Amino acid sequence: MSKNLTFAELIKQGGQELNLNLDKKAVLLFETYKDLLLEWNQRINLTSITDVNEIAIKHFLDSLIILGEIEVKVQCRVVDIGTGAGFPGIPLKIARPDLNVVLVDSLQKRVAFLREVIDKLQLKNIEVYHGRAEELGHYPEFRESFDLAVARAVAKMPVLVEYNLPFVRVGGQFVAFKGPESDEEVKLAANAVFELGAELEEAKETYLPFIGDRRSLIIYRKTKHTPPKYPRRPGLPEKKPLGV
Ligand code: SAM
Repeated sequence: MSKNLTFAELIKQGGQELNLNLDKKAVLLFETYKDLLLEWNQRINLTSITDVNEIAIKHFLDSLIILGEIEVKVQCRVVDIGTGAGFPGIPLKIARPDLNVVLVDSLQKRVAFLREVIDKLQLKNIEVYHGRAEELGHYPEFRESFDLAVARAVAKMPVLVEYNLPFVRVGGQFVAFKGPESDEEVKLAANAVFELGAELEEAKETYLPFIGDRRSLIIYRKTKHTPPKYPRRPGLPEKKPLGV
C-alpha cells in the first residue's frame, strides 16, 4: 500500500493516522531532513535505512508515535538522550515547533550532522550537546529540569533509566521507545527505577502506520528526586546495570 505513495504523502497520511495534522511546512522540513540524512550517510554512519519510504515510516513516523499516545504539553522541555541522527528529537520538533528540545549524543560526528540539520531547517529553541548522559546528567542546567525525556534504541532498560531519569523533573516523564519484546527489560529495570525516584506509569502498545510493526512506549513518572550519586561514572551503568 505504501509503495504507491510519495514520501510527502507517507508523512502526511501517516501523521493523520497518528492524529497529527502535519502542515505543508512540516512536510517540506521532513523532505530536507531526509535529503541531508542520505547525503551525510555517504560520509558518516547515521542509519542503515536508506530507502526513502522506509525513512519516512521507520524513522520519522516511528519518532512521532509518542504524540498520538501521550499528552505532550505546549512548550514543554524535552531531552532526547542518545539521539544519533536525531531520533526521535528532530521529528518531534518538526511536528511540534512549540517544544523546547535538547539533543544529546556522545558521538561528535553525529552532533556535527545534527547542527547542520538545525541550521538548514532553521529550527529554533533546539540545542545539541556532545557528551555522555552520565556526565551531562550532573550539570545543574540539565539535572531534573526536563518535563519529558525520550530515548530510542540506546540501551537496555536498566541502563537507559540511569541515563534518562536524572534529567527529568519531579512530576515529569521518561518515555522509552521499545520494540515488541520489552517485558523482560521492563521487569529487570524495576529496582533501578525505584532507586532513581520513579514509577512505571504505563506500557503502551502501538503500531507503525502502513506496515503495522508493533512498538511499545514504556512510560515512567518521576515521583522523587534522584539521589545525587546517579548517574554513576561514564561506562558504569552499562558495565554494572543498576539493581540487576
Ligand atoms: N536514538 C537514535 C535512533 O533511534 O536512531 C540513535 C540510536 S543509536 C543506535 C544510539 C546512539 O546513542 C548513538 O548515537 C550513541 O552515540 C548514543 N549513546 C550511547 N550511549 C550514550 C551515552 N551514554 N550518552 C550519550 N549518548 C549515547
